[in-house]
Order: sequence, then C-alpha cells, then structure tokens
Amino acid sequence: MTNPVRGHCLCGHVRYEYDGPVGPASYCHCEDCRRCTGSAFNVGVRLEVAKFRIVGGTPKGFTKRGDSGNELTRHFCPECGSPIFTSAPKHSEHVFMKAGTLDDPTLVAPAREAWTSSAVSWRRIAPDLPSFRRAAT
Ligand SMILES: [Zn+2]
Ligand SMILES: [Zn+2]
Repeated sequence: MTNPVRGHCLCGHVRYEYDGPVGPASYCHCEDCRRCTGSAFNVGVRLEVAKFRIVGGTPKGFTKRGDSGNELTRHFCPECGSPIFTSAPKHSEHVFMKAGTLDDPTLVAPAREAWTSSAVSWRRIAPDLPSFRRAAT
C-alpha cells in the first residue's frame, strides 16, 4: 500500500494524509448522499480517525440527521465545494472518505451497498448506451 495514503479536493485547497489500513468501501443510495454528491450514490471508504489528518486547508462541515436517525457531518472544501468525508458521533473512531478524493483510486474495495430502498433506476450504466473512450461527441 502507498504510505501515507493521500487525497485532495478538486481545487487542491483541502489535502489529507492517512497512515492506517484502508477499510472496505460502501455504496450508499440514501437521498442525503444523492443530494450531497449530486450523483446517483456515494462511495465511502472507512478510515481510522486516529491515523487520518488534514494537511492543507480547513474543510467546512454540514451536520444533518440522516434517515438512520444518526447525526452525520459532511465535510467539504469551502473553496471548490467538493465533498471530502463524513464523520458521525456514533462512529467516532472512523471517518468515511469520499472514494473519489483518493489520489490512488485502486485502494477502493467496495464491499456492500446500503439504503438500496432509496436507490434510483439510473444508478447502473446500461451496457448498451453509446460510449466513448474520451469526451462524448
Ligand atoms: Zn477545493
Ligand atoms: Zn447515505
């Protein structure tokens, strides 16, 4: 594994490093994750909070109670708005990193899907859609 694991937001203002084991990733189909990501679902990677540190910038947090009843704080870059990670008092020993912020995306190993009761029909890419190796024309 690359050590430390590094990641950052779209503009590079918020940067983090991590020295622990990269936990399993979960897809979340809940409505809050859909709105937060602006996409069909979130992919969160579990990291140990004690081995995680912000090394650049200061993320802004937004706290909301989810459908589970648990309070979640979603941390994002105040400059470019990229969602970066989620923390929750109920899971105080972990943060849930947005998989797409990792510099090395091969570290992401999805293990399960949650809140499929809220999943949208367009969460999967239909195999027969016209596809392009680069920008769609
Ligand atoms: Zn940013
Ligand atoms: Zn969710």
